[in-house]
Amino acid sequence: MEIKKIGVIGAGTMGHGIALTAAQIGCQVVLRDIEDKVVQNGMKGIDRFLSKSVEKGKLTADQKTEIINRVTGTTEMSALADVDFVIEAVIEDLDLKKKVFSELDEICRPKVILATNTSSMSLTEIAAATKRPDKVCGMHFFNPVPIMKLVEVIRGYYTSDEAVEITTALAQKMGKTTVEVKKDSPGFIVNRIMIPHMIEAIKIVEEGIATPEDVDKAVKNGLNYPMGPFELMDLTGIDICYFVAEYFYKELNKEGKWVSPNLLKTMIRAKRLGRKTGGGWYDYNK
Ligand code: NAD
Repeated sequence: MEIKKIGVIGAGTMGHGIALTAAQIGCQVVLRDIEDKVVQNGMKGIDRFLSKSVEKGKLTADQKTEIINRVTGTTEMSALADVDFVIEAVIEDLDLKKKVFSELDEICRPKVILATNTSSMSLTEIAAATKRPDKVCGMHFFNPVPIMKLVEVIRGYYTSDEAVEITTALAQKMGKTTVEVKKDSPGFIVNRIMIPHMIEAIKIVEEGIATPEDVDKAVKNGLNYPMGPFELMDLTGIDICYFVAEYFYKELNKEGKWVSPNLLKTMIRAKRLGRKTGGGWYDYNK
């Protein structure tokens, strides 16, 4: 089946970026969130990104309009009834994802692949909420979606070769570099490597060894990373780091190295989640 129309569930940080990337390759996109305000914010995010591309001379104003016109924002799940492919990007909560997948399974045509942008969670468990586990696949984008090159394509226990091939081809059409994660395993490749380094960075600050600024400076200049762990957490969302760390702790032998530091929990309680709340490890409202 040719993929002409894509449904994106969740219009937050990742969802609006995925919708934009899908519209840029000529697909019609239905962008669904639960609140109209969030849908509108997502649409504004798409507009902002494309306006910058026009300013930089990468797009004409007409091309921008064409791309935006391909995206329809909605709060109605029924608007997904005729899409050819779905990418889910709701918050990293397994019960919520299972609920969304069970709804999608009812609404979408039986042939349609249901992909999830989960950062860490079990594809097999998400797929079990549907009657089409062979058509449930991980499609893990990185933030910011229009810029970051990688997509991890992840197999659940029942994911078919065909679903992996179609998902990989779609990601590549979007200009992404793909890797296949052959086994359903927490955090896949990138987050399995990234989360421990974030936890260690928080512990360094918690133990009074260095400030977030100096940890970031050390990592950028000593390891040649483009961003330090605190800058990266503020960009991706400190809550995402927490959800993934908690999931690793539960799934990966409850080892000490996966325990969330108290300081991370305090940041969540203080609702300092990063750029999206105006402040995290750094302030952005100044
Ligand atoms: P976010 O909080 O910015 O957005 C999540 C959105 O989902 C919210 O707008 C919320 O209203 C919406 N939502 C909740 N329930 C819904 C429902 N039933 N139907 C439709 N929308 C619903 O989160 P995010 O950072 O975009 O993360 C989304 C997913 O992408 C998570 O699984 C996360 O782990 C993953 N991810 C995040 C990043 C990152 O850097 N932020 C990177 C890769 C993957």
